[in-house]
Amino acid sequence: MILDNKSKFKNMGNTLIHEHLTVDLSTVKGDNDTNLDDLNAMIDDLKELKNNGINTIIDVTNIGMGRNVRKIKYISEKSGINVILSTGFYKDPFLPDNVVEKSVNELSRILVDEILNGIDETEFKASVIGEIGTSKDNIKDIEKKVFIAASIAHNETGAPIITHTTLGKLGLEQLQIFKNMNVNLEKVVIGHVDLNPDLDYYLKLLDNGCYIAFDTIGKNNYQPDEIRAKFIKSLIDKGYTKKLLLSLDITRKSHLKYYGGYGHSYICDKFIPILTSNGVSDENIKTILYDNPITLIGG
Ligand SMILES: [Zn+2]
Repeated sequence: MILDNKSKFKNMGNTLIHEHLTVDLSTVKGDNDTNLDDLNAMIDDLKELKNNGINTIIDVTNIGMGRNVRKIKYISEKSGINVILSTGFYKDPFLPDNVVEKSVNELSRILVDEILNGIDETEFKASVIGEIGTSKDNIKDIEKKVFIAASIAHNETGAPIITHTTLGKLGLEQLQIFKNMNVNLEKVVIGHVDLNPDLDYYLKLLDNGCYIAFDTIGKNNYQPDEIRAKFIKSLIDKGYTKKLLLSLDITRKSHLKYYGGYGHSYICDKFIPILTSNGVSDENIKTILYDNPITLIGG
């Protein structure tokens, strides 16, 4: 089921907040692996995830990334996983031409329309603005334009914003744009912070009242999951359990089990046991996977 209004959000249950059911970055990346176009492989992966206790995915694929709402609806129905949809524009060099051509206000109209009226002539509405992103070393002007359009759309609709940081960097700079635009920072998720393992940085981000997402779980080549777990435990010990969110950000066919990858259910089979062995309680895990996403989306 697509969850796109308040009455449906109560069905969220355990939720992964940064995934992609359809995504196609293959034109820019020149790598067909980054086109998630095998619906059956995705359905199998998500059925297993559902069997392991995850009910809902926030799909942060947006305009220009290969988002396909009709396919998402089909995958959701066949797998039994609920989906929450997003609007937005990703980051340079994945931004469609109209981000260059249109004004900030025109861009914000597109986002608001997808939130209030529906996506691609369907009845299904976006409930999140995401993933909107920044490049590694500095925020490009075109990315700043998207952040400002997103802020305007957030201020009009209240929709939460989920960001992409490149290798976890520039989260504070992202927050500064939102602050300048009077965004409610309690509705902002700074993404991919697990790729920048720095407790002091996390605390500075959290000082702003935002969420931070450990949302590249399973990408052990970037960052061992043991390290992710240790930082999550430290943040729980410092009282930030209510500001943490989890996901895997699976974007490649080779991540799916059918293609020999670890699959979405890795978070349940492998990562949660690592959290437990690091001293994270079942109650903490429930807060992070169940309570926090509902507060973000519906609260
Ligand atoms: Zn992503």
